[in-house]
Amino acid sequence: MAHTDMAQPATHDTAETELKQQLVDCIRMLEQSDIIDYNGHASIRLDDNRILINIGACQRSRLTVDDICTIDLEANQNDGKGFAPLERHLHCGIYRVRPEVKAIVHAHPKWSTYLTMAGQNYLPVYAQGALVYPVPLLDSPNAINNRPMADRLAATLGNRPAALLKSHGAVTVGKDIVEAFVLANYMEENASRQYMALQIGKPYAFSDEEVRLCREKLWNPNLFQRTWDHFRAKLE
Ligand SMILES: [Zn+2]
Repeated sequence: MAHTDMAQPATHDTAETELKQQLVDCIRMLEQSDIIDYNGHASIRLDDNRILINIGACQRSRLTVDDICTIDLEANQNDGKGFAPLERHLHCGIYRVRPEVKAIVHAHPKWSTYLTMAGQNYLPVYAQGALVYPVPLLDSPNAINNRPMADRLAATLGNRPAALLKSHGAVTVGKDIVEAFVLANYMEENASRQYMALQIGKPYAFSDEEVRLCREKLWNPNLFQRTWDHFRAKLE
C-alpha cells in the first residue's frame, strides 16, 4: 500500500504540471496571435477550489510554468512567484456559477473591441465565428477587479461560451483550455473579418439555420484540437 500512497501524489503532480504547461502554451499562442499583449490572462480549474492562472506581471511571450500561480474561488492567492492579475475576479465569478467550465480566457483584443466601441453588434460572418454567436455584451468598460463586477459579468455571460465587454475586451470559456483558446481565436478572427467587410459594405450575416449548421459541423473536439495544434506548432 505504501507504493500506492507514494504513487498517487506523483501522478497528481504530473497532471498539475501538464495543465500548467497547457496554460503556458495557451497564453503564448494568444500573445503570438496578437489577442493578448502585456495584459490578459487565462486560467484552468484544478479542482473544487483551486484555479491556475498566470501572474499579472509576466512576459506573456516567454511564459513558463513558474509564471503560473494558484487562487481560490474567492480570488485569494495561495502561492506563486508574483501576484495574480487584478482581474482574477473575472475568472472566479464565472467558475462560481458555471460548474462545467474548466478554463477561461480573458483578453483585450483589438478587432472585437473595436466593434463594441462603435456599437456594432458581433455578427456571424465567418463559419468558425458563428460558434459563439450570439455574443452577450457587458455594457461597461470597467475592469473586472472586484466581486460585484465579476458577478455582473457572469450574469451577462449566462450559459454562453463567450461574451464581449464594451470598450474593454473579450472572454471565452470552455470545458478545457483547448476549447477556451480556440473560441477566443475564432471570435477575434470573426470580428476582424466583420470589421474589414464593414469598410467596403454591409457584411453578410449567417442565417439562424446557417449558424446552426456551423455549430453542428464545427463544434467538434477534434477540430478544436486541430486549431490548437496549428498554433502550437508555431511556438518555438
Ligand atoms: Zn480586462
